[in-house]
Amino acid sequence: MKILISNDDGIFSPGLIALAEVASQFGEVVIFAPDFEQSAMGHAITIKRPLTYHRVKFIKGFESYRVNGTPADCVAMGLYHLGKVDLVLSGINVGSNLGSDIWHSGTVAAAKQGVILGVQSIAFSQVINGEEPSYEKQKPYIAEVINMLTQGDQPRLVNVNLPEDPVGLRWTHQSIRHYNGAMVEGQDPNGRKHFWFAATPLSNPDEHSDRWAIDHNLVSLTPLRLSLTDEEWLQKLI
Ligand code: MN
Repeated sequence: MKILISNDDGIFSPGLIALAEVASQFGEVVIFAPDFEQSAMGHAITIKRPLTYHRVKFIKGFESYRVNGTPADCVAMGLYHLGKVDLVLSGINVGSNLGSDIWHSGTVAAAKQGVILGVQSIAFSQVINGEEPSYEKQKPYIAEVINMLTQGDQPRLVNVNLPEDPVGLRWTHQSIRHYNGAMVEGQDPNGRKHFWFAATPLSNPDEHSDRWAIDHNLVSLTPLRLSLTDEEWLQKLI
């Protein structure tokens, strides 16, 4: 099995290496990842300048390339150069991608790009609370997920979130919570005003959602689809 790995935290992220280490149990791993952090870039693609990529020699022996583009660019570039790829993996993102985060996530977008280009894809993100991330508790679950999703009839696009102390796996739906969307105002050293996004959830997660699973120390697996059409409304309108 040939596996393309990307992320949005950049080619030197420890999460990328942890994911490559697990994935290498399942097949040949090649990494195409952004040369700089691209978190919260969503599904942006680069169209106003050319893209290039360069071999990086010291990523724990994995064949690795850094791309001067977005996560979606990296997957497109990797698939273009590798020919037949069986699986695209994205992550492990430093921080979870739950609920509305899915709209902004470069990690999920890299996986989406894989599916758009015809390859089954899985996005991995991990809850991090301040300290240096460790992946040892999560690695067996990542292996279990890859093993399960590469056998038989499985969803093409799955968003996986890993808690700090996982105790099991759970299929979930994307939680839709109301955010206050607050901007927090501050001042730079020159006295100029600046603003930070500080979106905090206003409601508790609904049961069996991705956020609920993480609150219960369960690895959350959410099957996603590319279609954004509101089927219920469409039926009413046609
Ligand atoms: Mn990120």
